[in-house]
Amino acid sequence: MEAALEAARAPGADVPIGAVVFGPDGAPLAAARNARVELGDPTAHAEILALRAAAAVVGDGWRLEGCTLAVTLEPCTMCAGALVLARIARLVFGAWEPKTGAVGSLWDVVRDRRLNHRPEVHGGVLESQCAAVLETYFAIRR
Ligand SMILES: [Zn+2]
Repeated sequence: MEAALEAARAPGADVPIGAVVFGPDGAPLAAARNARVELGDPTAHAEILALRAAAAVVGDGWRLEGCTLAVTLEPCTMCAGALVLARIARLVFGAWEPKTGAVGSLWDVVRDRRLNHRPEVHGGVLESQCAAVLETYFAIRR
């Protein structure tokens, strides 16, 4: 989560959310920051960018079996769906997102028993530090 926080704090124009994918051995494979503005891409959430980069590094097709995704904010429906499709083994996230969260807040996509893959989930890890990065960003813009 410290690495995801570091990614979130990296310079950028968009909302500071960071994500890191760790391999089965615990070594970081890829890190990314939310970059919708820079890329002009509504799907350029930190999780999606990190999953894409990690899959490119692993070089085993598209599966990220045994991998862990750490992200500073509870994933949205798109990212929750993507990490399930990527076969991420473990999801760790920081702050809860009551407005769009899809890992327990509004929906619970990753633990939907109708899906054939359900990652282990740890929410609220370093929650206050992760929330503080977002609060600082929005405080400056109000
Ligand atoms: Zn998302």
